Amino acid sequence: MTSDFSEELRLPAACPECGSHLYRVSKAKNPSDQVNCASCKRFLCLYHEAQSMLQQEPGSELEALLEEVMNRNHR
Ligand SMILES: [Zn+2]
Repeated sequence: MTSDFSEELRLPAACPECGSHLYRVSKAKNPSDQVNCASCKRFLCLYHEAQSMLQQEPGSELEALLEEVMNRNHR
C-alpha cells in the first residue's frame, strides 16, 4: 500500500483538515517538494519548511513557523 515514490514523515504540525501528524513527501525530498497529509492528501507545506519544523526546538520559533503555515492554509 505504501507508494514507492513517497515516504512518511511525522511533523509537529497537525493537518488543518483532519488533525493527523503523519505526512507524505516524495522520496526525492527536494526542498521544493510538497508535503501532503498521509490521510486526506491535504497540502501542508514544502519539504524545506517541514525540515525547519523538525529542526526547531519546541518554543517560540517553532510556533511562529507553524502559525505561518497554518494561516496560509486557511486562505
Ligand atoms: Zn489530513
